[in-house]
Amino acid sequence: MISLHVKCPHCRKSLMDEEIMLHNAQSIKLNIMTPDERGTINLCSVYECFDHVADISIEEGTVVEFTCPKCNKELLVNEECRICGAPMVSFVLKTGGRVNFCSRHGCSNHYIAFEDLSTELSMFYDEFGH
Ligand SMILES: [Zn+2]
Ligand SMILES: [Zn+2]
Repeated sequence: MISLHVKCPHCRKSLMDEEIMLHNAQSIKLNIMTPDERGTINLCSVYECFDHVADISIEEGTVVEFTCPKCNKELLVNEECRICGAPMVSFVLKTGGRVNFCSRHGCSNHYIAFEDLSTELSMFYDEFGH
């Protein structure tokens, strides 16, 4: 089980929430905005797990805007989802590299991108094990 520790790409502050645990790991806390409402969401930090708790209801298929709770900047990147065309959202991993995921609720497109695959990947495995 790999739990990702992520930071805001803008202010570099940790996005981990120590108070709300999902699957025994710290969750990732973000501010969200749908066309109707604003709220907060806690995403499971376990890689490949899509569990989350939000204080507003999000309809399947809605494109959600994610912002950093620390600096309020948008976490969207200039990249479209290869599956559904919605904007991708990006975090910086504490170990280096990025994790990108689709902003459309219900779309499961996500991946980890390393800028320098050889060094980042070994750091990743050093920290998280195999
Ligand atoms: Zn920030
Ligand atoms: Zn998508």
